[in-house]
Amino acid sequence: MSEIFGGNFTQQEPIPEEGIEAAIAVMRHGRLHRYNTVAGEIAEAALLEEEFAEATGARYCLAVASGGYAITTALRAVGVKPGDPVLTNAFTLAPVPGAIASLGAVPVYVGVTEGLVIDLSDLRAKIGKAKVLLLSHMRGHICDMDELMRICGASGVTVIEDCAHTMGAQWHGTYSGRFGTFGCYSTQTYKHMNSGEGGLLISDDTDAMARAIMMSGSYMLFDRHRAAPPPEAFAQIKYETPNISGRMDNLRAAILRPQLRLLTEQCGKWNARYRVVEAGLRDTPGMTLIDRPEEESFVASSFQFLLLDWPADRIRAVVARCAARGVELKWFGASEPVGFTSKYDSWKYAPHPAMPQTDRILAGIMDMRLPLTFSLDDCAQIARIIRAEVSAVWQQQAAES
Ligand SMILES: *Cc1c(COP(=O)(O)O)cnc(C)c1O
Repeated sequence: MSEIFGGNFTQQEPIPEEGIEAAIAVMRHGRLHRYNTVAGEIAEAALLEEEFAEATGARYCLAVASGGYAITTALRAVGVKPGDPVLTNAFTLAPVPGAIASLGAVPVYVGVTEGLVIDLSDLRAKIGKAKVLLLSHMRGHICDMDELMRICGASGVTVIEDCAHTMGAQWHGTYSGRFGTFGCYSTQTYKHMNSGEGGLLISDDTDAMARAIMMSGSYMLFDRHRAAPPPEAFAQIKYETPNISGRMDNLRAAILRPQLRLLTEQCGKWNARYRVVEAGLRDTPGMTLIDRPEEESFVASSFQFLLLDWPADRIRAVVARCAARGVELKWFGASEPVGFTSKYDSWKYAPHPAMPQTDRILAGIMDMRLPLTFSLDDCAQIARIIRAEVSAVWQQQAAES
């Protein structure tokens, strides 16, 4: 009898008790809006911003309604206007080109390498096409950030980092989100901290952050922020910046603050799970594992491997056989967007010239979530199942050819 995995790939851990109690306290006093405070009170949202800025080493932090809102606000704050081209990853998810398109701007896709990071030679080739790069650290894979910043710096291209998958991760000892003008995070349920919906924005840029705070809907209450530019920074900006409300409320901030205190510990747990899956899949015939560079301190809340140059029907067979044994694999090569996966050319609102090298890699990317509700034994079992099914399809294919 072959073993079947019984776990749920989308089940996150409960909110820590401390977060539940803090949320109940906010509901009891009723002051959920971040600017609704009594004398001497500091709003949970302001405290979260202060603590997240401290945790990442950023000067400023703004808590907002979603990760997508964080990205659009960052793009607006650095001056992206309708019609502007914005460089971004071809290996991506819907909210990223969506954020660019929501401003009336135009995504210009940059390819992906076999290491699942942005292709720096393609970036060099396209760098003159735009003034801004929205860099998505897709599925937690971080490119050579030193080189990327050199390329962008030399051409005067502003970098915005989408860190939805790299909260807590570092390149060469620097937190992801600290290289670009803005780092954008999501605190939606599937990310590294869970408030249902939510986002965070960090920056050292005084004017850009002042604009972001005005946009988020601070009215003239920006002096209630703590990890924010001083009131003088708003003197002119407050008259010039449209309000596009997208604040975070105190309830979500209260849920997040205890999770932030646990973040480093949680990151260690994700990586322990990742290493068990990686060890279990090592040297599977036909499978390519992703090499993780030494400079990259990643946070592996998901796992990817490649079935490079496999025919589509064989990949579908692997997905179906794993699914029959309880293991949910997502395939980035499917022609139709499915669930949370999609391809750059799924989005017909944006130009998508053919990218054959990128298509070859996307066609082989297999992706799996690793929630912390899985034990290390669960991870070992998942790896055994994938290994068995990939091997079976691979052998079948070899026998037939
Ligand atoms: C989830 C996600 C976002 C957007 O976050 P939301 O909070 O859902 O708006 C942006 N980029 C990537 C890569 C994501 O996975």
